[in-house]
Amino acid sequence: MLDKGMAFIDGAYVEPSNAKISIFDLGFTKSDVVYDVTSVWKGLFFRIDDHIERFLASCEGVGMRCPYGPGEIRRILGNCVHRGDVADNAYVEVALTRGAYKSYIDDFTPDLRDTHVNFIAFAIPYVWIAPPEAQATGIDIIIAKTRRIPDESVDARFKNFHWGDLTRARIEATDAGAHNAVLCTPDGYLAEGPGFNIFFVKDGVLHTPKRNMLEGITRRTVGDLAGEIDASVVTGDYLPEALLEADEAFACSTAGGIMPVVKVDDRIISNGKPGELSAALRRLYWRKREAGWLGVPIADLIAES
Ligand code: PLP
Repeated sequence: MLDKGMAFIDGAYVEPSNAKISIFDLGFTKSDVVYDVTSVWKGLFFRIDDHIERFLASCEGVGMRCPYGPGEIRRILGNCVHRGDVADNAYVEVALTRGAYKSYIDDFTPDLRDTHVNFIAFAIPYVWIAPPEAQATGIDIIIAKTRRIPDESVDARFKNFHWGDLTRARIEATDAGAHNAVLCTPDGYLAEGPGFNIFFVKDGVLHTPKRNMLEGITRRTVGDLAGEIDASVVTGDYLPEALLEADEAFACSTAGGIMPVVKVDDRIISNGKPGELSAALRRLYWRKREAGWLGVPIADLIAES
């Protein structure tokens, strides 16, 4: 995979396999990184400005100053896709690491307010949390024993690399032979999964957790699409039993879209087939993306100065 696409690091475009950071970067030593992921499908970025806005809010949320503004980030991301020749479909990431201590070199007195932040971006072929074939029949997930880190410790709204809990849950899923896992908040309510938000349907209403999770752009998109199929969305605190007893469920992410869930732990959901609303939302999501909904052509971005 690393031989396809393009990266941007230290102010220059390089092959992804040549994009490297220092081992002294706090992004590496302390996971001190905020990032965002947007995607390209058939030549169109999806909701790029929403992703950039969230990215800059994440930078601010953790006290890092991004060296580029929204217009420059648009142009860099457009160029990564164009130069990397991945305009048909791409996973496009932008990240800011805390960088290395500036004072580390001089007197070994680390000052976290004064570091060389490192802006990184790259575009590689599209990444699926669950491949389309698995989505068509529905995926199975577990409710992880690992709990999501509390927002009071690491605010999940600022998209970050503190993936210890998410990775542990993912390993739990693999060990259980499941596709993926959903984690609960420290006090036991549904939160989110490694790279996705979770929805369930009960009596025709879509429900999704409201805290201790990233406020996903795809989650927002589901809200926008729900009106088109006459469904409403409610957010709340839900115990895992609500998911186990749901009529339907789906995961959603930039990396895969809307992914129907047909099994949670040992419980079969919607007779083991993607639920009606979940399947309708999935179809609508891709149909509208392909028709250009909220899309920006690559050519427009690289033409911007
Ligand atoms: N939750 C987490 C922890 C994520 O990392 C992601 C995306 O990568 C999501 C949810 C879904 O967010 P989005 O729809 O913006 O991709």
